[in-house]
Amino acid sequence: MNVSIIGSGYVGTTLAACLADLGHRVVCVDVDEDVVARLNAGDAPIHEPGLDDLLARHAGDRLTATTDYAEAAACDVSFLALPTPSRDDGSVDTGYVETAARSLGEALGPDGDPHLVVVKSTVVPGTTDTVVAPAIEAASGRERGVGFDVAMNPEFLREGHAVDDFLSPDKVVLGADAERANETLRDLYAPLTDRVETAVVETGIREAEMIKYANNAFLATKISLINELGNICKEYGVDAYEVADAIGLDDRIGEQFLQSGLGWGGSCFPKDVAALIAAARERDYEPALLEAAVGVNDRQPERLLGLLDAHGPVDGRRVAVLGLAFKAGTDDVRNSRAIPVIEGLLDRGADVVAYDPVATERMREHFPDVEYADSAAAALDGAHAAAVVTDWPEFADLDAEFDRMARPLVVDGRHVVEPRSGIIYEGLTWGGSKPEPAVTARADGGAGASREP
Ligand code: NAD
Repeated sequence: MNVSIIGSGYVGTTLAACLADLGHRVVCVDVDEDVVARLNAGDAPIHEPGLDDLLARHAGDRLTATTDYAEAAACDVSFLALPTPSRDDGSVDTGYVETAARSLGEALGPDGDPHLVVVKSTVVPGTTDTVVAPAIEAASGRERGVGFDVAMNPEFLREGHAVDDFLSPDKVVLGADAERANETLRDLYAPLTDRVETAVVETGIREAEMIKYANNAFLATKISLINELGNICKEYGVDAYEVADAIGLDDRIGEQFLQSGLGWGGSCFPKDVAALIAAARERDYEPALLEAAVGVNDRQPERLLGLLDAHGPVDGRRVAVLGLAFKAGTDDVRNSRAIPVIEGLLDRGADVVAYDPVATERMREHFPDVEYADSAAAALDGAHAAAVVTDWPEFADLDAEFDRMARPLVVDGRHVVEPRSGIIYEGLTWGGSKPEPAVTARADGGAGASREP
């Protein structure tokens, strides 16, 4: 099948490379000439494990890139993988999607074979019907259901695992209301669904739009709940990770997403939860639980800074920030918890030295004046404290590097560093030096005991 992917970011590039790998002929359309040039050179514009290999295999052959929408119009199917950022009030901004739909409509024109337009972007229920379809109709002069169809196919990939997630999905959600659209989507995904065992959910367009939000709202709320429980554990000197391991054995709870810590960031959870809250309010529904989930999440960086403060002021002192990406495996720093942590440190007058294996350049755009080290060891050198912000596996291997610190205080926001003698260890929701509450006197000193040497 000939497929165009409009928007070549994290989702569009992964989708394009994977569809090419499944045997389709794919053209990527992006307004950014640099992104187009990199794709044509087989060079991934984003950091994502496995993507470079797929591009090296297919770029210039089954996968090409262009700024010219005419090449999209010549395909059978076009995916819209455009950003859907938050407006100031948290509601979703569908402007990029609408602009791209118009450009595609103009390129399609009134004549030609029927085209299927598939919304991949995360959009609130009703957007495909009331924004995308009318934009295509107005710009092309075609009638929906005759000259083109629309569908909604939400994406569930996780950055850092995007290629694996796309090629081994838990589910494929196909939202369409025309049988012709359903057939095209089935054919498009057949090379994948024939190969791997996965649930294929055929549903309505609005349901598909909502499934994506419900998915992310549920996961974000689960993280905020375990973080809240972790905060209470910390107050009582209880090891939140032992608690989480035990409750995760209950099938109704499940073991995933129970790692309490600094909270969620990235390009999806914050904006998608905000968009769902705004959408609910638009219908006069106050989504109290989602608001609380956001509230817990917003507090976690401040709690980490509070743990640091408890060990004395950092004014004029060198503080290492380990990890800048919003999570391991990606260079994406959008809504990374590192941002409020660095802001809080700068407000306290600290000399911040930051390190991340892949996200430094992206964070430099936010904080051009912060010092960036080229290794964790260099960041720790002479530091008065270290804040672990991202769960990069290499931080778990740090050991003698802590001996280079002026004072070996490690405030671990991700449960990555192994406490050991010689470091002053503070876990955000576990361990550390919180005093035992009087009512919970224990014989063994337990996980809440101070780990100061
Ligand atoms: P992104 O910001 O990484 O990439 C968007 C791309 O679109 C950029 O390359 C940009 O140059 C291009 N673009 C902007 N306007 C354009 C236009 N008019 N024509 C052509 N190209 C244009 O975005 P992303 O992270 O890939 O997200 C895309 C959508 O997918 C969003 O709705 C997001 O919520 C959703 N989503 C993202 C993820 C994720 O992990 N990033 C996961 C699931 C769903």
